[in-house]
Amino acid sequence: MFLENPVDPASRRGWIEVITGSMFSGKTEELIRRLKRARIANQRVEIFKPMLDVRYSENEVVSHDSNAIRSTPVAGSGNILLLAGDVEVVGIDEAQFFDRGLADVCNQLANSGIRVIVAGLDMDFKGKPFGPMPDILAMAEYITKVHAVCVRCGNLAQYSHRKSHDDQVLLLGEKELYEPLCRRCYNLREETEEKSN
Ligand code: ZN
Repeated sequence: MFLENPVDPASRRGWIEVITGSMFSGKTEELIRRLKRARIANQRVEIFKPMLDVRYSENEVVSHDSNAIRSTPVAGSGNILLLAGDVEVVGIDEAQFFDRGLADVCNQLANSGIRVIVAGLDMDFKGKPFGPMPDILAMAEYITKVHAVCVRCGNLAQYSHRKSHDDQVLLLGEKELYEPLCRRCYNLREETEEKSN
């Protein structure tokens, strides 16, 4: 579990935290946990998500266990700078779907004294680094990599395997379409699929 640093209000500085991992690893739950604790301390918190992620609700960050918190859907990373205003903590969910400018936006926010908490998939379903996530991971002070449980063998899973053969990367995550797999089961699956083609 990530333990927040003590903050001296007189010398408050910004930083970037990243919560990353595969689907079904509890990223959004962890983001919500951190943001709710900041809210309880009366810190000014704003939460953003990409406009295309409207799976469950237009203006809430919703995790798979329906533990929700209000958020603002934005069209691009530049909008976050315009809307962040006088806040102390910025949360960003589904960061992998943002444009490449998000890393720079996170840096600017942190440089201006804001605590930035980013949650997002590290890899797409092909096992490749996803959108702006690699840049944000490189710039962050703190990284928490969370894991799902492999549905085939029970080991820790880091891959989001897409069960459908539709090749569109932006297909949004539903339990019927994806399953978490460990490295071994993910590679075995590729071998068996190549053989059957
Ligand atoms: Zn496995």
